Amino acid sequence: MPRHTTAPHPFCACGIHAAAELEHALAYLGENVEGDMQGSGQVLGRVTLWGRVVEGPSGWRAEKAYPFELYLPTDGLDDPYEVAFALADYGVPVELLDCSPVAAKVRAQLAAP
Ligand SMILES: [Zn+2]
Repeated sequence: MPRHTTAPHPFCACGIHAAAELEHALAYLGENVEGDMQGSGQVLGRVTLWGRVVEGPSGWRAEKAYPFELYLPTDGLDDPYEVAFALADYGVPVELLDCSPVAAKVRAQLAAP
């Protein structure tokens, strides 16, 4: 790969990744949260992209992005509110998501007829 100074480069993985479908974004989050990056404070958000944008099979890589809203999985975070407070700098809504197995069980119970 030749060195390049602009992102996203067509033959690289750089740039801000955006998924076209929520399931693809969740798969990305799952891969990273369940591994040793758990509690790294990764966030999901609905975003707008601009600048240089490269389309891929399940979304885009962009030069620039800005969120409409952010979702913060709280699993493994020592202080989710500290992270949420830092994200408030974006000036958009930040929602905390409890993705723990216990929370999933409770949601399944509540959704049951
Ligand atoms: Zn690159």
